[in-house]
Amino acid sequence: MPEESLLDQPTECDIVAFMAHPDDAELQCGGTLALAAATGSRAGVVDFSRGELATRGSPEERAAEAEAAAGELGLRCRINLGLPDGHLEDREEYRKEVVRLIRLMRPKVVIAPALADHHPDHMAVAAIVDRSFYLSGIAKYLPELEPWRPNTLLHTMGTRPAVPSLVVDISEVYETRKKAIACYGSQFYQEDSREPQTRISHPEFNNWVEGGLRHFGFFIGASYGEGFTSALPVPVRDPVKQYSVVPWKTLQRES
Ligand SMILES: [Zn+2]
Repeated sequence: MPEESLLDQPTECDIVAFMAHPDDAELQCGGTLALAAATGSRAGVVDFSRGELATRGSPEERAAEAEAAAGELGLRCRINLGLPDGHLEDREEYRKEVVRLIRLMRPKVVIAPALADHHPDHMAVAAIVDRSFYLSGIAKYLPELEPWRPNTLLHTMGTRPAVPSLVVDISEVYETRKKAIACYGSQFYQEDSREPQTRISHPEFNNWVEGGLRHFGFFIGASYGEGFTSALPVPVRDPVKQYSVVPWKTLQRES
């Protein structure tokens, strides 16, 4: 955690992920956040709920795990809104919270969950952020705070089949991403755990996570990639430069 800011206070960030539960950011876009932090950008996460409905672990454990994971990813700030897990929906009071944070954090890039997903909370956050993204630029909406509209809104791939608009090569921070996910000992596979088994605590889950990153990496000739969808086309300034390298030829052979 950087000395100049408190992790749980909204501070200016270049990229901010809004997610429903602690660990969603790590699973859905942890590599992109870690890469941003590693390359000098300021990255932040806003968790809507404390994950109190989870089968395993307590909200207190989740909070400590989320703070440890923030340290692994190199986040500048991580806010928890403390909204009710399992009951998130697109409503005015939640939009105002998101607009307030967008204006205080002033990100260029906002990441939200996929609009289609197995978890209703994820879809709710996606819908809330979709609306708040535009509202945050309207001066007369919450006039006490200066308006700020980020440059882009990206949605993660979620758990329903979808085609990404862009894929971020996260190969160089893959191990960091894994370490951040491993901070959530209450949620994922642990050999000595006595808690009930869930889909995400099954040992196979880690392989699915890796397989997903391999799958998107394959599209761009990278070892690991995180896919995102964007409602707008992704601008390319110089297509010749962009495509001047055969990507897989630069890959290091893994031992
Ligand atoms: Zn979640």
